[in-house]
Amino acid sequence: MSVTAAALRELHRIHRQLRDLRGRLEAGPKQVKHREAVVQRIAGELEQAKADHKAARIHADQKQLQLRSAEQKIRDLKLKLNAASSNREYQALRDQIAADEMASSVLEDEILELLEKIEAMARGIKEIEEKLAKSQEELANCRMQVADQEALLRADIDRLEAELAQAETQIPVDFRELYERVVRSKGDEGMAQVEGETCSGCYQRVTPNKMNQLLLGQVIVCGGCGRILYLPEDRSPRA
Ligand SMILES: [Zn+2]
Repeated sequence: MSVTAAALRELHRIHRQLRDLRGRLEAGPKQVKHREAVVQRIAGELEQAKADHKAARIHADQKQLQLRSAEQKIRDLKLKLNAASSNREYQALRDQIAADEMASSVLEDEILELLEKIEAMARGIKEIEEKLAKSQEELANCRMQVADQEALLRADIDRLEAELAQAETQIPVDFRELYERVVRSKGDEGMAQVEGETCSGCYQRVTPNKMNQLLLGQVIVCGGCGRILYLPEDRSPRA
């Protein structure tokens, strides 16, 4: 069987371009998916930050209630102090008041610290909200770009598929079976140019006998990888 090197080169070119275009077509939705995952992750972060903020506020409210009741208790003790009937009772009440005031002061410090923490948490929430908005915008842009690209890529693929169908009509009948088996299944991986005397697909040396057959314009399959071999433009036999 025989087929021109030019026809094989052309077929290989189309298969390579088709693979490239199909790869780019598949990459688009992957990019969108990746950005969707980023948005989802940040949304989860925001939800957690809001829950933490709410829990801290509840905690602060509880401590403030605790403080108010402690202050009320101190006021009651001071009333009792004024009405104390003995020195011993007076001293005991004074000690109690001092201890309670100390505890309240510690509690006040804790509340202040907690309120500062809550403010910082609110700032953190704002930052995450901004980050979320930005990631949502990037997702929307990515979706638009991928959709625009997809239309272009599909048009290119359609054009190349038509070119391929046209080129395949030129395949001689005796080469068709081999072509169908090797190239149809492997696409551009089913063909390789000979570089020097080596298969550019698997880098195995092509035997002198096969090189001669190639130069005579015969169809040769690489003994190493099974690719259909063809000569580069500058070494083509005269058709
Ligand atoms: Zn090979």
